[in-house]
Amino acid sequence: MHEMGIAMQIIEIATSSIPDELENASIKKVNVKIGKLSAVVPESLRFCFEIAAKDTCLSGAELDIEEIPVRARCRECSKEWTIHDPDFKCIECGSGSIDILSGRELDITSIEVQ
Ligand SMILES: [Zn+2]
Repeated sequence: MHEMGIAMQIIEIATSSIPDELENASIKKVNVKIGKLSAVVPESLRFCFEIAAKDTCLSGAELDIEEIPVRARCRECSKEWTIHDPDFKCIECGSGSIDILSGRELDITSIEVQ
């Protein structure tokens, strides 16, 4: 499952970013930002996170997911827009030559310790 890999990645990054003196602390919440291009289903990710977090210091922690919309800019006419459909063409001039500005994120924004 796609989400399981991402859940493991989040746990790995979160675990390694917890300072040593908080090693035994229990983590209440992990806030993440995920771009819609990563095609993550938040419900599945939460589910996988819960399973993968067992036996780690993140066990029982809540995963808060903020979805980042996919923004694109046309290389031909410089039009910027938010992509909702999987149609990567400029909505202004129809050019297929576009840059993806956001939507690929997978960032842990903060970790809340109990
Ligand atoms: Zn265009």
